[in-house]
Amino acid sequence: KGQVDIHNIRKSFGNTEVLQGVSLSVPPGGVTVIVGPSGSGKSTLLRTINHLEKVDGGFITIDGELVGYQARGNKLHELRGKDILKQRTNVGMVFQNFNLFPHLTALENVAEAPIVAQKRSKAEARKRGLELLDRVGLKDRADAYPRQLSGGQQQRVAIARALALEPKILLFDEPTSALDPELVNEVLDVIRELATSGTTLIVVTHEMGFARDVADTVVFIDQGRIIESGAPQDIFSNP
Ligand code: ADP
Ligand code: ADP
Repeated sequence: KGQVDIHNIRKSFGNTEVLQGVSLSVPPGGVTVIVGPSGSGKSTLLRTINHLEKVDGGFITIDGELVGYQARGNKLHELRGKDILKQRTNVGMVFQNFNLFPHLTALENVAEAPIVAQKRSKAEARKRGLELLDRVGLKDRADAYPRQLSGGQQQRVAIARALALEPKILLFDEPTSALDPELVNEVLDVIRELATSGTTLIVVTHEMGFARDVADTVVFIDQGRIIESGAPQDIFSNP
């Protein structure tokens, strides 16, 4: 589970078409790394996968189900807010700037969604939250607030939070771009560990070493189009 199929999607902002017919199949359980220049549409592409951006053309399916739409008879209906949220529990997302709730502790950040979205008991959500913080090496910082944590630690909390709803797919939008260089590896190491977990990972990054070592597939995007995709040894070989 966790297959993503992107079919010829188009997306414009104003008169600029930032995705110009992008198609991509992401098999379950693998690591797909998306690289390309700034402004080429990588973040927009990622955001279409959990319907944070609506597409203007084409469609996306996750395990065969249309993202943002539902077929009824032979007509397509756009999902309502509640159903979009339900669909999004399949897809976790980690942002460049962590986006933690500043007024909640690390543990509360991780436990919040299971309590609200899955109606877990507080005790259950905290227990599971501690396990997830342990997994990202932060069990001892459970009661710290985001401002008391380093950027690398905040991002690891954000990863634990994204895992809390047990998504089939995890999206990473430049997860290390906001970090001081010496903190990059502690976050990449957590993602490396997740790569063996069976969750589908789609990672937008400028970290080419990470792409080379961890990706099953590297996708190179420029100006809203996929220019090249393949195994890292093929993409990074010097002809
Ligand atoms: P990347 O992630 O590759 O840096 P983005 O997907 O963030 O690229 O952006 C692609 C282009 O779309 C850029 O020119 C950006 O300014 C533009 N863009 C992104 N989001 C919006 C938006 N909400 N409104 C208008 N333009 C946007
Ligand atoms: P990223 O670094 O992930 O590509 P950006 O810093 O480009 O993101 O954009 C941050 C936010 O601003 C995003 O939600 C994006 O959709 C929006 N955005 C980007 N470019 C524009 C733009 N030209 N006009 C309006 N919103 C934009």
